[in-house]
Amino acid sequence: MIATNLKKVRASLNDGVELVAVSKYHPVESALEAYEAGQRVFGESREQELRVKHEQLPKDIRWHFIGHLQTNKVKYIAPYIAMIEAVDSLKLLKEINRQAERCNRIIDVLLELHLAQEETKSGMTPEECHDMLEGGEWRDLANVRIRGIMMMASNTNDEDQIRREFLMAKDCFGDIKSRYFMNDESFNVRSYGMSADYLIAQQCGSNHVRVGSKIFAE
Ligand SMILES: *Cc1c(COP(=O)(O)O)cnc(C)c1O
Repeated sequence: MIATNLKKVRASLNDGVELVAVSKYHPVESALEAYEAGQRVFGESREQELRVKHEQLPKDIRWHFIGHLQTNKVKYIAPYIAMIEAVDSLKLLKEINRQAERCNRIIDVLLELHLAQEETKSGMTPEECHDMLEGGEWRDLANVRIRGIMMMASNTNDEDQIRREFLMAKDCFGDIKSRYFMNDESFNVRSYGMSADYLIAQQCGSNHVRVGSKIFAE
């Protein structure tokens, strides 16, 4: 079932769109099924759950941390995490840099933007993100590499609203790119779109979707 779901999701993605299989809340066995069907990039949102899966599953999996990350948890994932997707403060970015340095690694991160109407969503407003980048301290953090942006649309059935939010994300990406990363080829990730809205997201310029329930729960 999982292999079939995965195949369907893959077939619906445009060329060049990265699929992160979000295995959170699903057992190790389910993640393994997806692995055996060829999936190598997985997303988790809680450190303890990720720790168990990382220990038990094959080592060539690239783990993305997609949830809110507390600074005191960074040290646990720094030795192996492939990407931290939801960086929402300079403080967190600095801690990732510090722990990455201790592990002698450079860790890829995304800046999480809050663009949804919902108050419940996390992330930086475009203004907060701009202020952080304008401050320039991030330029000295040699052990993190800012690869792009991540966001979540409002949890609504209103497709027009979702589309508006994704297009805002696309614009924000372009704006940040042109101001701070113009000559940085590696700043190229637009992470938005989940099970319910990834098809809209890829129409709106997403090149990195995070899909869970559509793969693991149907
Ligand atoms: C859970 C989660 C997803 C996947 O959600 P589905 O609706 O199960 O596809 C994607 N991104 C984030 C940040 C999540 O927490």
